[in-house]
Amino acid sequence: MRKPIIAGNWKMFKLLGEAVDTALALKPYVANANHCEVVIAPVFTALKMVADRLEGSNIQVAAQNCAIQGEFGAHTGEVTPGMLKDIGCSYVIIGHSERRQFYCESDVAVNKKTKAAVEAGLNAIVCVGESLTEREGGEAESVVKTQLRGSLAGLTVSDMERIIIAYEPVWAIGTGKTATPEQAQEMHGHIRRTIAGTHGEATAENVRVLYGGSVKPENIGTLMAQPDIDGALVGGASLDADSFARIVNYK
Ligand code: PEP
Repeated sequence: MRKPIIAGNWKMFKLLGEAVDTALALKPYVANANHCEVVIAPVFTALKMVADRLEGSNIQVAAQNCAIQGEFGAHTGEVTPGMLKDIGCSYVIIGHSERRQFYCESDVAVNKKTKAAVEAGLNAIVCVGESLTEREGGEAESVVKTQLRGSLAGLTVSDMERIIIAYEPVWAIGTGKTATPEQAQEMHGHIRRTIAGTHGEATAENVRVLYGGSVKPENIGTLMAQPDIDGALVGGASLDADSFARIVNYK
């Protein structure tokens, strides 16, 4: 039985005080949400204080990125997964399409970050998803398969226990266009079959596959009714505590 995860990606929004206020506002709204794991991903500068203020609650904290290196070193501007764990993160989002698109993050880099994150004891939410051109060209499945194979290369079956996949079609992120539940289900099934090929049936059955792309309180229910959708990675609608809580409490 896969426990769903509802994760909020706050991207590059909120100053420290706003991040703490939103996290504290969310706390009572989701205090009884035992049906899923609740995760929020504030900016780096707010992680420590948000994690401290949420200690003992059922909300876990994620970073939105990490270094490819697991060791300390001369890498100006980078943060190791171990440093994130040290300040209270339990998750990290890796390979978000905005990082792939605007920061040239390749599957090789995503793979290195994922390995470093797992080694540090973090759970990694690895993002994949096709662009509109790729979908219209009939390449969506092959693009996602290539991303998965590259991003998960060399990870063991035991490493895979710390991996969550987020399927985020690029054309649905921040656009208000959601994949239909059927389109999402089809791709989630494909993701599971791909992982069965690389890591075996048992891993494929256990891995949680989240959907991301304009998830809102109004559409979470139909998405979650699909058999291979195990939760959501939510951008815009996670910035407001009330709207994110309505998504968490979809049941
Ligand atoms: C995201 O940033 O991962 C995302 C899915 O954004 P939105 O929900 O705003 O489309």
